[in-house]
Amino acid sequence: MEIKDIRARKILNSNSAFTAEVIIKTDKGVFRGSSPRGTSNSKYEITDTASGLSDLLKKFNDHLNGLKAKRLGYKEDIFDIERALDEKFIGGPSIALSYALVYALSADLSIQPHMLFGGNGRPLPLCKMLGGGLHSYSLGMDIQELLVTTLNDSIDESLRGTLEVYNNVKALLKEDSTRFFGGVDLEGGFATRLGNYDALKLLKKAIDRAISKTELDIRMGMDIAASTFFKDGKYHYRYPLGDKNEVTREEQTELMERLVDEFDVYIMEDPVDQDFKDGYAKIKKATKAIVVGDDITSTRTDRLELAHDALGGTLIKPNQVGLLYKMEEYSELADRYGITKIVSHRSEETNSPIIADIGVGINAKYLKIGINRGERTEKLNRLMELYSDGV
Ligand code: PEP
Ligand code: MG
Repeated sequence: MEIKDIRARKILNSNSAFTAEVIIKTDKGVFRGSSPRGTSNSKYEITDTASGLSDLLKKFNDHLNGLKAKRLGYKEDIFDIERALDEKFIGGPSIALSYALVYALSADLSIQPHMLFGGNGRPLPLCKMLGGGLHSYSLGMDIQELLVTTLNDSIDESLRGTLEVYNNVKALLKEDSTRFFGGVDLEGGFATRLGNYDALKLLKKAIDRAISKTELDIRMGMDIAASTFFKDGKYHYRYPLGDKNEVTREEQTELMERLVDEFDVYIMEDPVDQDFKDGYAKIKKATKAIVVGDDITSTRTDRLELAHDALGGTLIKPNQVGLLYKMEEYSELADRYGITKIVSHRSEETNSPIIADIGVGINAKYLKIGINRGERTEKLNRLMELYSDGV
């Protein structure tokens, strides 16, 4: 494949902020890649802001000019381009470039994009039902995400169960017109004035009803995103889970253990702050939940080396590390440690469905995603397409 033309520009993301897009022309057509961004970012990830993006993209376009007429035949050629990038482009621009290259190369090789990553997995949707924390402007519950997944291995059954829960949640919320006005958070989860405990009880009821109706094995997940309300050695709750608003690290681990037992939590992400590895380890040991690292690991192999024994699962967000070769190394390391892989959307997304291909391509167990809003459903729809093609 030869790059005939290539350029970067800014586009809007789903949270009305600017982000990078790269457009590549080859003999086979025009291919695009774009960069998502997080709102509840880890201190260990590469974060890029919308400010200064125009100037950065000007410099990036100068760099991209040097790629014109370049020939690529293998995924490793994409990785070589990534390795040659200047530090200042690592983040939004680099991941947008890599995604555009994945689409251009796979089209040239007449293969599906996920095939470049070698795997042929069947990730199941892990879908956001209710949103709080920074994703709902710190107006609702402190817990950032209440999620559901299923233990079935058919995506149709999984979505049947998930949609049943989603519709039950909606119906239950509509009965509470003082605390719910129809809003959704950045990822399409319902945004309400329900506190943590009330939201948990409501979701549990919605799941139990869905289980009796569908007879599917539907499970609850949550992303506490505890770092977002951890300050000066304490977790600061607006809606206390116990009897106080401020709790210590030790108290937080106990509260989380209680939540797992009481609500039969199957997946628990970031229950404590990103620097409290022992807290993750303690919850992993004391409960049957899959304890998942996101902020603590940030798709970085050095972080996973440090934290792997405290975790049962990890999120994989390629833009946290900015380079696909590093994401692939991370995925391989997670496999070596037997850690469940969850490829995840970000709260500020673009319409690119590529994370569905990445989830399949690296044999992830789950795709963490929103169940509504176009930039989320695009990815779910792509996942369904990959299943139905018998990939
Ligand atoms: C998350 O924390 O798992 C998440 C998807 O949110 P963000 O993109 O804001 O980091
Ligand atoms: Mg998270």
